Amino acid sequence: MTELYLNGEYLAIEAGKVSVEDRGFQFGDGGYEVVRVYRGEPFRLKEHLERLRRTLAGIDLALPEPAGGVESICRRVLGGLQEATIYLQVTRGAAPRAHGWSDDLRPTIVAYARACSAPAPGSAYTLLTVPDDRWGRCHLKTTGLLANVLAKQAAKKSGADEALFVRDGRIVTEGGSSNAFLVRDGAIVTHPPTNLILDGITRRAVIELAKARGIRVEERPFTPAEALEASEFFMTSTTIEVMPVVRIDRRPISLGPVAAQLRADYARLAGRD
Ligand code: PMP
Repeated sequence: MTELYLNGEYLAIEAGKVSVEDRGFQFGDGGYEVVRVYRGEPFRLKEHLERLRRTLAGIDLALPEPAGGVESICRRVLGGLQEATIYLQVTRGAAPRAHGWSDDLRPTIVAYARACSAPAPGSAYTLLTVPDDRWGRCHLKTTGLLANVLAKQAAKKSGADEALFVRDGRIVTEGGSSNAFLVRDGAIVTHPPTNLILDGITRRAVIELAKARGIRVEERPFTPAEALEASEFFMTSTTIEVMPVVRIDRRPISLGPVAAQLRADYARLAGRD
């Protein structure tokens, strides 16, 4: 049975009920996190909770600390799962529909875990570039994900694994649900953590791993042309970890040693190998 935490109660996921007037449902008014669990232990949970705090502060949503704290809720809903993801979501709560809100709403807090597995060894992604038409606060991990959903669906329909957002036709920002890196002259290059991207927990871990190996890290914007000329390209996220890319639109990209090394280093950090 998948156990759900919902507003102070633990119940079976099928028994969870949220109002149709919840602002998460009507406005996408909330924030969330997805935490990977390796061998029963949530990976970088404190960083995720800190990012959730920043997201909620960024949308002016005060999270009342639930009894026992969010960390212990995450551990309880795991229910002994060893390889899993925890989904944690906070929305502003339910009220008669109006864009503006009153500050006395009770936020809706949801957490549950699902079993998952690591990406298959040797797997690689193909990407479809799409215009980055998202709002200007992509650093907040909000539930308003329609632009990401449409981008990823366009990628899926084209036979690609992931969308690659390009802002104003000039700057590669990130993936539909992942961060983007290229390799050039042995250095890794990724968009800086501005309002135009989500600063991924995996992104940060990979930057640390690269620095520990003496790989130069450049956090700067890059163009689609530079992406196509890169010696390697890879994506990162909580669920795909470090995923090499073999094609962007119709152009093949080579697999190479840098992404392979970082993928292996990340697997080690996660307690595999
Ligand atoms: N960018 C976007 C838009 C995402 O949705 C995600 C996945 N949450 C990421 C980047 C990667 O973040 P993380 O490494 O924290 O999973």
